[in-house]
Amino acid sequence: MTTKPKYIFCTGGVVSSVGKGLTVAAIGRILKARGLKVAIQKLDPYLNVDPGTMSPYQHGEVFVTADGAETDLDLGHYERFVDENVSRMSNITAGQVYLTVLEKERKGDYLGGTIQVVPHITNEIKRCIRLVGRQTDADVVIVEVGGTAGDIESLPFLEALRQLRTELKRRDALYVHVTFLPHIGATDEIKTKPTQHSVRELRGIGIQPNVIIARTDHPINDDIISKIALFCDVDEDAVIPLQTADNIYAVPLMIEETGLGDFILKRFRLEAAAPDLSEWEGIVRRCRSVTDKLRIGIVGKYVELHDAYMSVKESITHAAVLQSQDVEICWIHSGELEKGKRLDELETLDGIIVPSGFGYRGIEGKIAAVKHARENKVPYLGLCLGMQVMCIEYARNVLRLDDANSTEFDVSSPHPVIDLMAEQRAITDMGGTMRLGEYPCKLTPNSLAARAYGASRIMERHRHRYEFNNDYRAAFMTSGVCFSGLSPDGILVEIAELQDHPFMLGCQFHPEFLSRPNRPHPLFAAFVQASAEYRDELGRLALRSAMRADDN
Ligand code: GLN
Repeated sequence: MTTKPKYIFCTGGVVSSVGKGLTVAAIGRILKARGLKVAIQKLDPYLNVDPGTMSPYQHGEVFVTADGAETDLDLGHYERFVDENVSRMSNITAGQVYLTVLEKERKGDYLGGTIQVVPHITNEIKRCIRLVGRQTDADVVIVEVGGTAGDIESLPFLEALRQLRTELKRRDALYVHVTFLPHIGATDEIKTKPTQHSVRELRGIGIQPNVIIARTDHPINDDIISKIALFCDVDEDAVIPLQTADNIYAVPLMIEETGLGDFILKRFRLEAAAPDLSEWEGIVRRCRSVTDKLRIGIVGKYVELHDAYMSVKESITHAAVLQSQDVEICWIHSGELEKGKRLDELETLDGIIVPSGFGYRGIEGKIAAVKHARENKVPYLGLCLGMQVMCIEYARNVLRLDDANSTEFDVSSPHPVIDLMAEQRAITDMGGTMRLGEYPCKLTPNSLAARAYGASRIMERHRHRYEFNNDYRAAFMTSGVCFSGLSPDGILVEIAELQDHPFMLGCQFHPEFLSRPNRPHPLFAAFVQASAEYRDELGRLALRSAMRADDN
């Protein structure tokens, strides 16, 4: 009888942005493929309590969990790869840890004591790690530490992991270090020295990794593996080369091929079924065999940073791949549309998405994109802010309510068709105070939404302060807008759709957080299908290839 759970502690070395989060998610997938229950947790060493107040430029997308936590975008990878819902406990920041400890100190819980990083902060980190194991009843908990070994701020986290190795039975903890092997172009050589140094850095803290995952852009040979094994003191079969993949969903298959899954099982003395990755293989096969070109525009103000729309991008891909569509995402800066630039690019699109956003910058550009979609009957999917701008455009240009706006952008708008939610009015703190997490929504029978979902009641995740202003509901409805999704008490508008349009739908929630590679979200699936139909009906495909031929 083995004890539960086992822990895999995953650190990073050499440089950031080598795909540690994806690697961790992929390890989760190959363990789940063996029938094991897997939980994943990310420890972020920064001092913000959560990333909800951080700019997308700093942090990329904020992923919202079902229980309403604003978390790191890696949690989106975890959910998409492992297909288990994560929770508030799945993302712990240094800020949260310090806040908890300091609140206890103020309450007098430590009266008489000096509060120190060791043991108070490290104890709190260990409590959070163990809580995930207990709450999820997982066989294996994978804990990823953000940042790279050597960062000052990650020291308390690494110290906590070191302490856990002693507290857990040695066989119950596995340390995986993800590094990067640079390639020197002049001599065409792959270098292991930075990996050696980062392992030395870890050893200085008292952690000897058991597995090294060596990320690389180039193939690596056995000599390199032997060298890393020798210098870093790990078994040769525990040096896992991981070359940059052409498709992120191929990473679990690549890791499985290295034998890491069996290595982990053996090391933990866990019995499990043979891995079944057949569904996953099917996904990757389909990703690689897509044929029909589909051009989807994402109109936002952070489009130069695709990470800011990570889940939206993945959701489009999930839906497109299942429909054999090779989707090309066209990133359009709403600020440029606002200045009258790139408007003609809208004409090349088969579908338009306006995703989540905050603040006035770029809003008029988004409204221009909505107007184009409505007038030209281009399929449109509005996500949260995307629904709000869809309503503002309709109010201004169809209902002729001049200067209609959201009070987020113009507090004195004569027609505030989008307004601050009543429950938000007394709130002054910015952190974690939006309407967050999963809420139910009932759908109008036979609407576009009800047909897409094939259901009458759904649960979706939210992150907003503003909502559709019900003073305008009647005017919108008489003129052809169907509010096809409402909160169960009928008060809050969750989905708006245009009747005189093949697919123009906005939702106040974030469907992008629920899409999975094997289970595309119904709204994205319906949107992609409508976009493909729009393209085919107009013979746009033929038109485009003719245009290309002209160019050549
Ligand atoms: N800024 C809008 C609000 O707070 C939309 C939020 C979003 O798109 N997530 O309601």
